[in-house]
Order: sequence, then structure tokens, then C-alpha cells
Amino acid sequence: MVARYFSLGCVFVLCGVVSAYGQTNTFDTPSTALSAGQQSQIARQYVTERLAFWQQRLKLDDWRISVVSARRSELKPNTLGAIRWDKTKKSAVIWVLDPSEYQTPFRATLDDMELTIVHELVHLELTSLPRSEASRSNEEHAVNGIAEALLGLYRERQ
Ligand SMILES: [Zn+2]
Repeated sequence: MVARYFSLGCVFVLCGVVSAYGQTNTFDTPSTALSAGQQSQIARQYVTERLAFWQQRLKLDDWRISVVSARRSELKPNTLGAIRWDKTKKSAVIWVLDPSEYQTPFRATLDDMELTIVHELVHLELTSLPRSEASRSNEEHAVNGIAEALLGLYRERQ
């Protein structure tokens, strides 16, 4: 019997990649100049944009994916995101830590939220592989490496 739903709480380290964004855009506005409401709105817009980009890059266009922001208390301890998917329906929900829960500058927060998106999409990419409780931490380790490498490459080219 195969579980129809699968959910993962993801433990991963903060991205060590330094943002290479040189150009000025809304996302580079100093966080001090933005209210919490504005930050949350910009973050939502950013995450939607990055999800579309990475979903296409990872050829996951046939999935219906939504992103929900989560409080730290809603996620498993020491996690920054989570994903739950339904393989039959090809739908997934990604939980991303809400920007208000971050202590980092806004730009770093957005970068980290993007890392969460890429990380969870890589998990989705691996859904066709067999998995067990035993393989979980190995998968987590591999997913961390792949997601950071993808994002690192992308940011180097910007
Ligand atoms: Zn994970």
C-alpha cells in the first residue's frame, strides 16, 4: 500500500550564498523602509515569481503547486519549510516560513525563501523514487546539496 499523501518537514541550513543582485528593484528596498505588511506583500509576490521560474526550470509544469506562508510554530522544529504532495492529482503545497519570522535583512530573507522553494521542488522531483523512513535523512542531505548548487549557479550568473 502506497501512501497517497506524503509530507516532509525539511531541515536545512541557511543558504551561504551571498546575493549577487546588483540592480535596484523593489526587493532591494531596505527593510527599515517597509512595514511588516509591505514586506509580507513583496515576499508573496517574490515567492510566486520564483516558484514559476523554478517550476519551469525543473520541468514540473504539470504540477499544480501553491505556496503558503507558515509561522515557526506551524512547522516542525528546526525547519524552514515543508511540502505535501498528492502524486495522483499532481498537486502540492509548499509551506515557507513567513518573512516576519526571520531575523535577517529583508534581501537575505527573500533569498532564503527562494532556497526553500527550490529545496521543496527538488523533493518533488524525487517523488518517483522509492522512499522510506531510513532514506529520509539521506534524501534531505542530497536535496540540500542540489538546491544550494542550483541556486548558487543561478546567482553567480546574475
Ligand atoms: Zn527537505
